[in-house]
Amino acid sequence: MSRIQLLSPRLANQIAAGEVVERPASVVKELLENSLDAGATQIEIDVEQGGMKLIRLRDNGGGIEEQDLPLALSRHATSKILVLEDLEAVNSLGFRGEALASISSVSRLTLTSRRADASSAWQVQTEGRDMEPVVSPAAHPQGTCVEVRDLFFNTPARRKFMRTEQTEFKHLEEVVKRLALSRSDVSFQLRHNGRVIHQLRPARTEQEHERRISSVCGPAFIDQALSLDMCAEASGLRLWGWMGLPTFSRSQTDLQYFFVNGRIIRDKLVAHAVRQAYQDVLFHGRHPAFVLYLELDPRLVDVNVHPTKHEVRFREGRLVHDFIFRTLHRVIADVRPQDAVSPAS
Ligand code: ADP
Ligand code: MG
Repeated sequence: MSRIQLLSPRLANQIAAGEVVERPASVVKELLENSLDAGATQIEIDVEQGGMKLIRLRDNGGGIEEQDLPLALSRHATSKILVLEDLEAVNSLGFRGEALASISSVSRLTLTSRRADASSAWQVQTEGRDMEPVVSPAAHPQGTCVEVRDLFFNTPARRKFMRTEQTEFKHLEEVVKRLALSRSDVSFQLRHNGRVIHQLRPARTEQEHERRISSVCGPAFIDQALSLDMCAEASGLRLWGWMGLPTFSRSQTDLQYFFVNGRIIRDKLVAHAVRQAYQDVLFHGRHPAFVLYLELDPRLVDVNVHPTKHEVRFREGRLVHDFIFRTLHRVIADVRPQDAVSPAS
């Protein structure tokens, strides 16, 4: 047996990266969440070779101070929570202070940023090394640009798990779609190998919001979807969005988006409530399509369950389940019977 030693920061970060950074899509998810947390209203994403060669994300958010730049790349460094109580009512998408540290430990990363009140922009670069990041002046408008090159260049075992360029890009595009659905007020542009794949303008009116849903989920969905908006006075729960008519049922669960306080989640309880609501109107093996937003007091939901933050725990699970079920069931029950069970898609 060897003696016990403290892991080097790089190795510790690479181990943590194993949890958070699975593929290019996970990088894009973390960077997008940071931009949204920084209050960005415009986000541009440039990707080369499915993100394996390059991911560049530029935002017009609040930016990072010069002296905070090296900290942004350190593990457990965050501007989003300070005390345990903050964690109990967290409303930012990030809070673990791990993403940039993890990503920078397995890629060649450049972080450039400028705050509104700063006279110039500043930049730090890392190459998966242990060295202290060096801050240098740079040219950039207000906001932040993160460039991630050669993902997993120093972790060949991870690199082997990457799929084809097309597959990696599909995963990455899905992440952009989810976040674009969660924030229709923000404009998104996604380019792959120089080609514009999505150009989503900010939506302010209900009509513009529908247009966003249509660009992301396809016009057929919005044509065959019912919009809903329901509040439960007593519990303060609100459920709104679009649910596909039974005629728009799918053979896969590929068009199911459920957001809790703006965060996309996968949850057994929610899935069960939705399935139950559609139970009588869908054939066996068919799945509903929906884009739904649940809003509730952040203290009633715990998001710190898993590093990717896709899972949540509701404090009043039963109440949430029943509210979702009842709301959706009522909307479906109002559908004309002839729409109810003809399979499509
Ligand atoms: P977390 O998001 O959990 O705080 P990250 O490692 O993702 O951790 O980011 C570390 C910190 O860097 C953030 O808390 C934030 O202060 C800053 N930061 C990262 N990206 C941006 C951005 N696009 N705009 C402004 N600040 C950013
Ligand atoms: Mg983050």
